[in-house]
This record gives sequence, structure tokens and C-alpha cells, in this order.
Amino acid sequence: MIQGLPVFILFGPPGVGKGTQAAKLSEKYGFYVISTGNILRDEISKGTELGRTVKSIMDRGEYPSDDMIIGLVDRVMKELSHGQSNKIQGFIFDGVPRTEYQAETLQNMLEKSDQSIKAVFSIEVDDEALVNRLKGRFMCEKCGQIYHEHYHLPKVEGVCDRCGAHKFVRRPDDEEKTVRERLKVYYDRTASLIPFYEKKGNLYKINGMGSASEVFASIQNVLRNLGEKELS
Ligand code: AMP
Repeated sequence: MIQGLPVFILFGPPGVGKGTQAAKLSEKYGFYVISTGNILRDEISKGTELGRTVKSIMDRGEYPSDDMIIGLVDRVMKELSHGQSNKIQGFIFDGVPRTEYQAETLQNMLEKSDQSIKAVFSIEVDDEALVNRLKGRFMCEKCGQIYHEHYHLPKVEGVCDRCGAHKFVRRPDDEEKTVRERLKVYYDRTASLIPFYEKKGNLYKINGMGSASEVFASIQNVLRNLGEKELS
């Protein structure tokens, strides 16, 4: 496992823009993004045994078991240590941890490799805004660039701004009924991580109601104060 790099967590209910901010952070700072949601969707699209196990759970907006999630994170971090890891400046965890058990286990895993959580960015958005964002969300099938049917359409209709591909997809769990279930699960099982990290003193609340660039600017302010440097 890679040793001694800073770790940042993007935290918040579904639809706050964690994936969008993770992509920006990766590009500007050279952080490696670990998104358990993306890893699970990848397993589903490859039709692996794990993918088959989690599909119906995710389609209902519920959580697969903590051990499965921790196993995935562990696997990704170990694979990295064997690969080309010298360009990585730090890690962004997007959508993980989501339970106190995951948070404790992740912390132990990180400590073993001399890594610590430098900041947890808790992005905050009103619930109704979240439902509207997710209902209208779609993405490029090839590169994952995120769009919205009212607020952020591709510049040229039917063509991805980032990679030029022509096919777009929606997530099955972005249907309104499932979004409401995901929010409920978030409040039941995940929101308690806010006081958990507040007590540890590394939680930064970020207003997520502005544009993606405004939210990014708020995160950058914190990173600047923590001494993180952008890639030149
Ligand atoms: P996301 O892409 O982060 O919105 O995650 C989509 C779905 O993947 C969630 O609704 C859960 O079913 C599952 N998932 C992703 N990350 C986790 C996690 N850390 N713990 C439990 N379930 C997760």
C-alpha cells in the first residue's frame, strides 16, 4: 500500500455533487479518487459475481454490507501499490465511508500505512434541491461527465463536451422514488458521521447550493489553508 499520502473525504447526501468535485480535485491536485459507487457500478456492468450480488440492493437505494465495501477499498488500495503510483499526490474518498463501522475500519486501515484523514468536506444542499438534481441527471456513457436536463446540457446537443461521445445514460437509482429512499437511508445510517468527524476536528462544512465552480472554490480555500498545492 502507498505510504504517507494525505486523504480527503467528500461527504454528503446523494446528489450534493461529490462526484463532480472529486473529478475537479483529481485534475487540479493529482489526487486519486476512490468512489465506491463507481467501483460497484463497474462490477455490475462487467457482470462479476460481486456486481450480481449488489445490483438489486443498489437499485433499491440500500447499502451492500460494510465488509463488502471495506473489502473493495482495501483491494483498490493494494492494487495501486503494485501499479504506477508515483504520480499520486493524495486520495479522495467519494461516497465512503457511509457508516460508523466503515469510518472506524477505514481509519485503522489508513493508520497502518501511515496515512491520515486531513479533511472531511461535508457538502450541504436542501433535500428538495437534491431530488430535483438527481431526477434530471444524466451522464456520458464513455467518460462519465455529468449533465442535467435543465441546468447543464452539453454545449452541442447529443455530444459530450469532454470526450465527444454521443451516448448518454441515466442511473437506475436516480428515479424519484429511489432517490427518496436513498435520502432516507442517508439520514438513518450516514448522517451521524457529521458529529463523528466534528469530534475529531477535521470536518469542514461546504455550502453546496452554488454552482460546481463556487463549491470547488470553497473546497480550494480549505485546501489552501491546509497547505495543499495545485499541480503546476
Ligand atoms: P453513489 O454513487 O456514491 O451515490 O453510490 C451509489 C450506491 O452504491 C449507494 O446508494 C449504495 O447502494 C452503494 N454504495 C456506494 N458506496 C457505498 C458505501 N460506502 N457504503 C454502502 N453502500 C455504498
